[in-house]
Amino acid sequence: MTWDPVTAQPVGPERPIVVVGAGPVGMTAAATLAHAGLPVVVVELHPEPRPDWRASTFHAATLELLETIGITDQMHAEGLVVPTYQFRDRADGLVAEFDFRLLADETRYPHRLQLNQQHLVRMLYDRLRQDPNVQLRFGTELSGLRVEDDGPVLALRGPDGGVEELAASYVVGADGPRSAVRNAVGVAFEGFTYPEQFAIVSTSVDLQQLVPDLGHVNYVADPQEWLFILRTPESWRVLWPLPAGFAVEQAEDPDYLQSVLQGVAPYPPGYPVVDQQVYRVHQRVAAAMRVGPVLLAGDAAHINSPIGGVGLNSGIHDAMDAARRLARIARGDGDAEAELTAYDLVRRTVAVEYVQADTQRNTDRLRERDEAVRRQHQDDMRAIAADPEKARAYIRRVSLLESVQRFGIGRPPAELELEALR
Ligand SMILES: Cc1cc2nc3c(=O)[nH]c(=O)nc-3n(C[C@H](O)[C@H](O)[C@H](O)COP(=O)(O)OP(=O)(O)OC[C@H]3O[C@@H](n4cnc5c(N)ncnc54)[C@H](O)[C@@H]3O)c2cc1C
Repeated sequence: MTWDPVTAQPVGPERPIVVVGAGPVGMTAAATLAHAGLPVVVVELHPEPRPDWRASTFHAATLELLETIGITDQMHAEGLVVPTYQFRDRADGLVAEFDFRLLADETRYPHRLQLNQQHLVRMLYDRLRQDPNVQLRFGTELSGLRVEDDGPVLALRGPDGGVEELAASYVVGADGPRSAVRNAVGVAFEGFTYPEQFAIVSTSVDLQQLVPDLGHVNYVADPQEWLFILRTPESWRVLWPLPAGFAVEQAEDPDYLQSVLQGVAPYPPGYPVVDQQVYRVHQRVAAAMRVGPVLLAGDAAHINSPIGGVGLNSGIHDAMDAARRLARIARGDGDAEAELTAYDLVRRTVAVEYVQADTQRNTDRLRERDEAVRRQHQDDMRAIAADPEKARAYIRRVSLLESVQRFGIGRPPAELELEALR
């Protein structure tokens, strides 16, 4: 790796910025770069945008960011505005309710927007394929990446199986948890994997008809089988941990799924299941989010438990932060080395101190087995919810507004106190 920001080739049609991965994070980075007038190539393994149901929560700070590329209104037209969420106990019912409207004087979006992530991907795809600054290369796999003095060179395997090289100015690796970009630049993915797998099932039955005080977003603690229950525009979704040693086939058995749903609330006709997935959950952060002219963003850089709904949100924040810095560098307004160093320090700090810390704490709270500790958590949550200032600070943090207020998104290096983050 001999890349030198002084001798590096500038961003231009001969040396575009290459985004690897057309998930929600890569598409957001590409849309933001193209909006700034920069040439972008998006490389995606799959032949078309992926339609899977995965993340479904968008927080205030993210909605404000997506406003800058004109997507937020469209998301609201299709999504479900949810101003509150509940912390519950399976035995005791409602413990505490938090209201995002306490932040109405801090954000235009004092709510969670529930919208399955494939809709954001579709909206971004529709936008990108009409943008003359963007070249979309679906069905194309990144099979190699090396960094030379004047910039990175990618090896791409196209739909016909042939491999060609593409010279770039910068690379944004948004290619998910198994990131080929991260592996190519030799960055470790440090952390751990939860021993139990998680199952998630969607049903068309309105759970609020069966449990009248249920909120639209509910974290339900239980020492044996905790639950995360939330509503999206299409369905209600229930997520829970599988028993130790459970095979995927056992988890997909319709009788087993039915028994878990009937345990949430009895429904004699039987729950129709419209979607189901089993997956492993990890808490991992890349040892570096930048190597020379290569940046990592989203799941390529950090993965976490879904409890809190901040993984995808923080990935979108990475994408915007990276794109704003690259745009300044391309315009000649930003020092490349300082900008890219700031990206690494700030986004890694957010991943470790906010996303990892909060999602792990949230998950541990739900699965706590010690009765005294469980009771203490309940008391803590009640005390926070009962005190408007504490509740405001709590929801500012869980909705990632706190980290954005602290570091901004793409804030110039001179305006950041970076020494403290090294
Ligand atoms: C079952 C499931 C449920 C989830 N639920 C939640 C949730 O409730 N809340 C939450 O916050 N998060 C959730 N997540 C996580 C969330 O979906 C991710 O955080 C989000 O998708 C990250 O987006 P991304 O763009 O970084 O990565 P991805 O969405 O993984 O996109 C990466 C893209 O890169 C492409 N790619 C990979 N390798 C290559 C290559 N070599 N060359 C070219 N392209 C490549 C892939 O095909 C893919 O399209 C869930 C994930 C799963 C699997």
